Amino acid sequence: MGVIYAKQALLAEGWAANVRLDLRDGRIVSIDHGTGPEANDTRVDTLLPAPGNLHSHAFQRAMAGMTEVRQAGRDSFWSWRELMYRFMDRLTPEQIEAIAAQVYVEMLEAGYASVGEFHYVHHQPGGVPHDNIAELSERIFAAAARTGIGLTHLPVLYSYGGAGQVELSAGQRRFGTGVDEFERLFDAASAALRHLPGDARIGIAPHSLRATSPAELSRLVARHGQGPIHIHIAEQPREVREVEDWLGARPVEWLLGNLPVDDRWCLIHATHMTVTETRDMAASGAVAGLCPITEANLGDGAFNGPDYAEAGGSFGIGSDSNVNISLTEELRLLEYSQRLRDGSRNVLVPGAGSVGRFLYMSAARGGAQALAREAGSIATGKLADLVAIDSQSAALCALSRDSLLDGLVFAATDRVVTDVWSAGRHMVRGGHHIARDAVFAAYRTAIKRLLAP
Ligand SMILES: [Zn+2]
Repeated sequence: MGVIYAKQALLAEGWAANVRLDLRDGRIVSIDHGTGPEANDTRVDTLLPAPGNLHSHAFQRAMAGMTEVRQAGRDSFWSWRELMYRFMDRLTPEQIEAIAAQVYVEMLEAGYASVGEFHYVHHQPGGVPHDNIAELSERIFAAAARTGIGLTHLPVLYSYGGAGQVELSAGQRRFGTGVDEFERLFDAASAALRHLPGDARIGIAPHSLRATSPAELSRLVARHGQGPIHIHIAEQPREVREVEDWLGARPVEWLLGNLPVDDRWCLIHATHMTVTETRDMAASGAVAGLCPITEANLGDGAFNGPDYAEAGGSFGIGSDSNVNISLTEELRLLEYSQRLRDGSRNVLVPGAGSVGRFLYMSAARGGAQALAREAGSIATGKLADLVAIDSQSAALCALSRDSLLDGLVFAATDRVVTDVWSAGRHMVRGGHHIARDAVFAAYRTAIKRLLAP
């Protein structure tokens, strides 16, 4: 797979200059520093571990910008969800694949090496399964293969329309499965996933407490003794109230008290937690899946960052609704949401230190953990999930090495990204994905067809 030469690189043990990385079979097999480049090396300026994007619903990318018009009365997460259901109900398998490929190109160009696809559209409109039950999972796999992104596939169990085992609404029938049907889908998707490169992973995603039941959730978790487990947990105050009325505990409190939550788990939108829930969740080893742009867009609320960071909790970043794909903006908004709430500065770092470096490296580590990728730092034996940035760009050239990640998070845009490797696949070069034009052409065709009257 060749050798990368970087003028500087942020290795697991810290910054190093004149670094040569030897890549083989998707992994970093050796790291030298203090030597110059050789003739066939791929040369870059500054090399960082590339974070994983731990939470995506790819199809929602195509409705970005369609739900920002105020309706009479008060818009909310729940009114947005109705619009999303209507949009989703028209999508064909071909369109789902084309949209996913487009959004994966954008993710790679933003500096993400991998994605956790929280995949809940399983069936045909109306809820009839496809002849191949994993048809739509396979469309996601095709998009991952086309774009080279590292995929952790998270098929969703979605059985109920709301807290207390309410029946699915018409808009939810494309998602609906019981546990047994889910297992068939999981097995079919697992078999198909073997055609992807070896770094691809599969886990499970019980959609949320409100879309499952305690008994079925326990059964599902007991059957899956390994691999990641992702769940939407406490995105909206109404959801917290409904779960509390139904189960007698707040969602995070209930989950930690009733299931073996550990470092395999990723709790998406751990937004509404008491201080006790925050500390207990940090102690569980689970990753908080934070999606700052989407959470701001949907008016979800702000995560309890200070207590969680102080308790040593793991977290990572997801682009969720994909309304805007930007790694730097996700990290920036995560910190800014804390500053706006607390009337304070430099909130998200325990003790003292660089906020940018803490946010970036935590997201790289937490993303890798949540996606079951041996990545998140640059070290021998790890997957070669790497991003190169241009430290001589206008936003960064005044900064010392120790301030560079603060510059990346607070002063730069993703346009400082020059190259990205996912498990050694060199997909972004000179700032552009190698298949971006063809993928975009297919996306535009699919969207025109979708939106034709
Ligand atoms: Zn989500």
